[in-house]
Order: sequence, then C-alpha cells, then structure tokens
Amino acid sequence: MQNRDKLYINGQWVTPSGRNTIDVINSSTEEVMATIPDGDENDAAAAVAAARAAFDAWSATPPAARADYLRKIHEGLKARSQELAEVIAGEVGMPVKLSAAIQVGSPVANFGYYAKLANEFEWEEVAGNSRVVREPVGVVVCITPWNYPLHQIAAKVAAAMAAGCTIVLKPSEVAPLNAFVLAEVIDAAGVPAGVFNLVSGTGPVLGEALVRHPDVDMVSFTGSTRAGKRISEVAAATVKRVALELGGKSASVILDDADLAAAVKGTVNACFLNSGQTCSAHTRMLVPESRYEEAAKIAAEVASKFTVGDPFGGTAKLGPLVSEAQRERVRSYIRKGMEEGAELLCGGPDAPADLPKGYYVQPTVFGRVKPDSTIAQEEIFGPVLSIITYKDEDEAVRIANGTLYGLAGGVWAGSDERAQQVARRLRTGQVDINGGTFNLFAPFGGYKQSGRGREMGKYGMEEFLEYKSLQFKPGAPVLSEKAPY
Ligand code: NAD
Repeated sequence: MQNRDKLYINGQWVTPSGRNTIDVINSSTEEVMATIPDGDENDAAAAVAAARAAFDAWSATPPAARADYLRKIHEGLKARSQELAEVIAGEVGMPVKLSAAIQVGSPVANFGYYAKLANEFEWEEVAGNSRVVREPVGVVVCITPWNYPLHQIAAKVAAAMAAGCTIVLKPSEVAPLNAFVLAEVIDAAGVPAGVFNLVSGTGPVLGEALVRHPDVDMVSFTGSTRAGKRISEVAAATVKRVALELGGKSASVILDDADLAAAVKGTVNACFLNSGQTCSAHTRMLVPESRYEEAAKIAAEVASKFTVGDPFGGTAKLGPLVSEAQRERVRSYIRKGMEEGAELLCGGPDAPADLPKGYYVQPTVFGRVKPDSTIAQEEIFGPVLSIITYKDEDEAVRIANGTLYGLAGGVWAGSDERAQQVARRLRTGQVDINGGTFNLFAPFGGYKQSGRGREMGKYGMEEFLEYKSLQFKPGAPVLSEKAPY
C-alpha cells in the first residue's frame, strides 16, 4: 500500500505544513499498511481558504452542471471498486466481499443518486407574495469516522456538492486511505479547484482547527457522542450550523406474536454486521419473559455460526475489530457484563482460538441483561448482543426508549400493522419493521443524544441548504415565473 505524503488542497496535491505522519494499521495483521500526513492548523487554514475562494463560482454553477461532475465521480469510484473494497477490508477489517457490497456499493450509489437529485430538486417555490429560494449554506467541513468510512464520506460530500457547497474533508485517521482514493477520483473528474479539499490528521488538532475557523459555515460530523459535544461547543463561538450523526444503543423489540426464529436471527445479524461496529446496530434484543429460554437458545445457535477470521480468507463472516484500542474496549465491556451478573450464553472476553494476530473478539451473547446495566446502556461497538426480557408491550417500549440514544431499532410482530404501531412509539430515527432493509433514500439520523439533522436522500441534501425569501408586491409577474433551474 502506497504511503500518502500530500494533501489535496485547491485542486493540487501539496506538501503539508505538518511534518509528522500517522501510521494506518491493518486490523488483521497488526502491521503498518501505510502512513498519512498529520496535518496542522496551517493545513486547515489553507484548505478552508481554497474552499472559500471556490464557493462563489461553484454555488452559481447550475445544478445540472454540478450533477455532471457527480456522475463522473460515481463512474470513477465504480471503476476502482475492487481496490477500494480491499483497502477498506484492510483498514476496518470487514470481509472483502461484504466490503465490496456495503462499504463501496453504497458510496458509489450515493454519488449517482445525488447527481440525479440535483437535476430533479425543486430549488424554488412561491409562498404568498414571496419567492422562496434554496441556496447552499457555504463552506462545509466534513469530519468522518472509521466504521463505514467511505459511506459516511459520500453521504456528506455528494450531498454537499450537489447542494452547491464547497468542502473540506477530514476523514478518520484510523481508516483514511479510502479518502485519498476518492480525492484522486474527484481530481480525475475535473471538479474545479477548491470545491473539494482533503486534509488528514487528528481530531483535537486538525479537526478542532477546522471547526473553529471563522470562514467555515457548517460542520457535518459523524462519530462519537463525546466528540460531537466537543465540536458543538467549539462551533458555538462562531454560530456555525452543526449536523451530528452520533452513537446508538438500538433495541430490537420482539413482540409475543412474532416469528421468533426469524426475529432472533434478524436481530443477531443486525447486531453483528461489521463486527458490531455499526452505529445503528440492534444491540439490545427485547423478548417477552415467557419466550426467553427459546430466544436465548436460538440466539446462541445463530451467533455460533458467525465464523471469525481473515477478511481476505473468503469464509469468515466476521473480521477483526478496527484497532487494538477498540478490541480492549469491547473485551472490557464483556468482562463488565459478566461482573454485573448477566448470563453469558456464548462468546466471552478471550481471543478466539487460532487467531494469534489481528484484533479479533468472539461473537458474544448475554442473556437476562438488566435494562439499566452498563452493557445495556453504553455503546460497545463490538459483536456483543444483550437479551432483555419484558412483561408487556408498555414495558417493552419503556425499555427500548430508556437510554440516552435514539438512532435506530426494529420491531418484530405477527403483522406489519402491529409492528408499525409499536414503532411509532419509539423515540428513534429509523425503525425496521419485521426485518425491513436499509434504504439509501430514507432519512438517517438520531433523536436525543444520537445527533441532530438527517443524512441520505433528499433530506441529506436539504441539510446543506439555506432558505432565502424574496418579497414582491402582491401579484408581481416574477411570482408566476418558472425557477431558473
Ligand atoms: P470519533 O468521535 O472518535 O472520531 C470521529 C471523527 O472525529 C474522526 O475523524 C476524529 O478524528 C474526529 N474528532 C475526534 N475528536 C474531535 C474533536 N475534538 N474535534 C474535531 N474532530 C474530532 O469516532 P470514531 O471512533 O471514529 O467512530 C465511532 C463512533 O461513531 C461511534 O460512537 C459510532 O456510533 C459513531 N457513528 C455514528 C454514525 C451515525 O450515522 N450516527 C455512523 C457511524 C459511526
């Protein structure tokens, strides 16, 4: 893997001001895959200046022309799909086949979608004696995490570019290599200089310098609730718009008339995807007290079929966790669950047998977890499922809503109608009904401390737009004119 020693600023690969580098570690070999620049405040300032200078022309570029660039990026990413799937399998640890379908398939689709949306969107409307115009918010800083690195980048960058914003991207320093490939694709697509800029470095230094910068209009952040709070504080000094996609502790509520086998299997799958490193993972499975024994047995059986191993080996369903720090964090939560008296149904804190290298953990299921215990309240971000029992539907809803978070969830019932009724009572951004699947066009985001704002679909692009209203004298001819786009 190629070391990266330049940043992409103002349409060029430039030598960074920060002279240090950061090692990117392969999660299954524990070896250094490549190094990236550890950018500093000067790099932040250069990237923001480039984005600011490019804004007037890009925001005035007709949406159809912006769409043409997005389509070229879509094609460019598609052509490099296999390479990207391997890069992300190395950085994050997701098995390469799944990585191709999910980690790369979704961002490729998203660039294509936002090209289409830019063409179809209603940019103006009439309200009484006003024309209401949607305009790009300005220079946007995008700060992203490591778990679905390119997906989270595309959800922001494609939507913000379609909206007419210019961008400074700071990807996660843990899984940044895919972002360098994206910058090459954007460069090859001929996107005007300064519209997209890539800087790399740490959150507290480079990230905060970007968030603090007075020429930045908006910060779009995905990551931990802890960092989201800090970013909100720093951004408040200049009253920036802040969009936050944060953590989760989502519940899968299995009602008494559900198909138990399908519901438990679906929940285990929704918990363990990407080794549990998914913000919307269904990490709490709520089952009626009367069906606990049956549910626990099925869950342990399903979990034991999650073979753990080399993401490049072809047979593993679960790869390693992303880093040593993450592995230790997950193991300490498993120990905590045991100390707090939950029933360990399968897995445990020890490394899986025969995998001496790589940040692997065993898929783990706890039964009879108390709703207020640590493992039922805190985001673990590993393949750890907690089964919690309830007496009646009201108690199930109370437990499901009983955390600081509100990102996702699921309801399983004998009918979609019944499941939907319970789903409407959950204080959370998205709910899968009887195993309903992820939808790229639906709004994604959280209630409560899971964040603020929505990504994906038209809702994601609207986050990057301002409203402007132009008042005319009633009946003025301009009110019946068509929008210029
Ligand atoms: P993290 O918060 O540690 O880091 C995310 C990004 O923020 C990185 O680029 C990091 O460098 C940067 N950062 C950290 N501190 C910063 C600061 N003070 N100022 C500016 N930037 C800063 O999160 P992570 O470990 O990379 O990702 C895992 C977390 O992300 C989990 O909590 C997960 O739930 C959450 N997540 C949420 C969503 C969602 O859509 N809601 C999606 C994926 C991940």
